[in-house]
Amino acid sequence: MTTVHRVEDLKSLVDPLLVYQDYVRLTRRGRRSLGLCPFHKEKTPSFSVDGDNGLFYCFGCHRGGDVIKFLMEVEGCSFLEAAEILARKAGVRLETRAPAEGSRGTPDRRERLFKLLAAASRFYRQAFAEASPQSAVRAYARRRGIGPETAERLRLGFAPPEGGLLAHLARQEFTPAEAMEAGLLVERARGEYAERFRNRLLFPIEDTLGRTVGFGGRALGDEEPKYLNSPESPVFQKRDLLYGLALTRQAVREAGRILLVEGYMDFLAAFQAGVPYVAATLGTALAEGQVRLVKRYAREVVLNFDRDAAGLQAAERAILLLLGEGLRIRVALVPSGKDPDGFIAAEGPEAYRRVVETAVPFFDFLVERALSSGSLQEVEGRMAFVDRLAAYLSAVPDPLERQEYLREVAARTGMEPSLLRKRLQEPAEGGPAAPQGRSPDLPAVPVREQLLVKGVFAYPEAARRILADLPGEALDSAAAGPLLKELLSGSVEDPDNQALLARILNGCHEVPSEGDLKRAAAEVQVEFLRRKERELARQIREASRRADLDLVQILNREKMALLEEIGALMD
Ligand SMILES: [Zn+2]
Repeated sequence: MTTVHRVEDLKSLVDPLLVYQDYVRLTRRGRRSLGLCPFHKEKTPSFSVDGDNGLFYCFGCHRGGDVIKFLMEVEGCSFLEAAEILARKAGVRLETRAPAEGSRGTPDRRERLFKLLAAASRFYRQAFAEASPQSAVRAYARRRGIGPETAERLRLGFAPPEGGLLAHLARQEFTPAEAMEAGLLVERARGEYAERFRNRLLFPIEDTLGRTVGFGGRALGDEEPKYLNSPESPVFQKRDLLYGLALTRQAVREAGRILLVEGYMDFLAAFQAGVPYVAATLGTALAEGQVRLVKRYAREVVLNFDRDAAGLQAAERAILLLLGEGLRIRVALVPSGKDPDGFIAAEGPEAYRRVVETAVPFFDFLVERALSSGSLQEVEGRMAFVDRLAAYLSAVPDPLERQEYLREVAARTGMEPSLLRKRLQEPAEGGPAAPQGRSPDLPAVPVREQLLVKGVFAYPEAARRILADLPGEALDSAAAGPLLKELLSGSVEDPDNQALLARILNGCHEVPSEGDLKRAAAEVQVEFLRRKERELARQIREASRRADLDLVQILNREKMALLEEIGALMD
């Protein structure tokens, strides 16, 4: 495998479009490719990639930059992790210089833990592969209908009753302290360790970059606990992970939809039943970090939690969180009151796929829940019903959608919509709209400056000459001045400048010729001189008011010289 030492070299090995296409469906429009932005909610494409230099820019949320910046944002990862993704794509190994003194420690330690967990995962998979057909783990897999292909794709493992992981790790020079930190050991007594997972079927938990970060272990018999999870560690935070998403995220993105289930076995069953866009919450209440993940890959969420009280409550909480993010939400109800795994075992994959496809809008689910909890005959019952729904209604960001729901509540309860609105503290229809997305903090850049920026790429030598001729203070006064200076110095490091660069390069103004470039530079200088002229005019007015005629004369001479200069530039 080739080794690459600089991220810059790496970037030239991968067609950036291929990276963007993993996340965005792009359509070519001339030099640019357009698609729906993965960072904000939209119906018409404003995410643009410049075909020549691979920079992206979104005209909706104003994010922009190069492919590394894109990966950092979309994967929520560090610069080096983004570079790793790129390296994997290029099929090369990335070996950057050792990190600077002081920034050592944490990244290295995390790297060690990832390596150790990968080694552990390999050990457990090997043990699963080598288990005899009569073994308890194979019998369990057969009983639960886990096919060999599914086991392979989910990288299922087996923690043998006699252990062996620690010795395996020791051979690869990992210490017990490191295995402890990764959550694979428990301390029985002072300085005495035992392996956490014994005689269990293991589900490796991976982050979205496909790195093993922990394990979930299912008991093979009736032992307690039924499920045993890795504890949280520097690389494993349950609240920021969805089980199985590493495997299904592409399918989730393609479907624009994610099916959320609660546990490992539910995930496995749904996945095996032919719902490829599934992920599991790892048995916790849906957390904000998980919602962020969902939002990164899908616009619609189908919830399929257990139908017991805890599951229904978890679903209600999840709806509230997801609503605030503007996601479409539906709820799949397994008719027999089983969990997805049990239902599929009883009714088969096709019946389950139908349940998912016919999932009801979340509002119907909530109304049914509320209806089942109290009578609507009495006024108090109706008020309680409205109060129950109020929290959800106010979490709906789109005012029009909110009005729709309001009308529906009115219809179901027979209450006056105006009364309801009052009860819900809702502004009347046509009231103030919800706040728009974050405002652009990038400066507006005149076309002449945009042309100069583009010229640096189209006609590098001429642009350099022309910009060098431009007086420094004229360049300084330009909105794109700092960016142009960085471009001349060879590389754009400032993140604001990178975003600005991406926006300009993805803009529609073209540089047809070197002549246009010269004209643009002249215009920048004229604009600078005009500003100076306006300032002189102000000073002249002031001097006249003070009757300082000498000064007026001097300033007027300066102004004449300035106008001459402008005239010469305009020729
Ligand atoms: Zn955007």
